[in-house]
Amino acid sequence: MALCEEGYLCDVCGLEVETIDESDLYLRYVLGEVDPETLHVSRERHLRCNPGLAQFIVAEDFAAAEAEGFFSKAGLDPEFVAEEEARVTRGYLRLRELPGLGLPLTEYPLPEVRARWQGPVAPSTAVEPTPIGGRSPLSRPGL
Ligand SMILES: [Zn+2]
Repeated sequence: MALCEEGYLCDVCGLEVETIDESDLYLRYVLGEVDPETLHVSRERHLRCNPGLAQFIVAEDFAAAEAEGFFSKAGLDPEFVAEEEARVTRGYLRLRELPGLGLPLTEYPLPEVRARWQGPVAPSTAVEPTPIGGRSPLSRPGL
């Protein structure tokens, strides 16, 4: 299943999304907001290019993102913000663990998301999407 060599390009800035932990698409997949059937046909974006979601990541080595205007968390209900921060940060931390876990793509999402999907009718005929870039983030060239 070789896809194109250059991996996935960010829909916002046009640069390559090189690792899974900078992928907005995969974070939303881990959070259960993108389902496995549409993962491989969805547009990719950098987390930093989607501040509306990234602003809820509260992690030491993640540069805080700020959304502007209507979607800024400064203007949102503090209770909602706290819930979103807990949820999105948990997803982000899982996203960062994934390359070291060697899990199949179907086991990327958070446990409660998998439980929901595995409900009474398991989508066993789903086509397995190709992991991002089709290569290990650990093997990225230089830096
Ligand atoms: Zn981008």
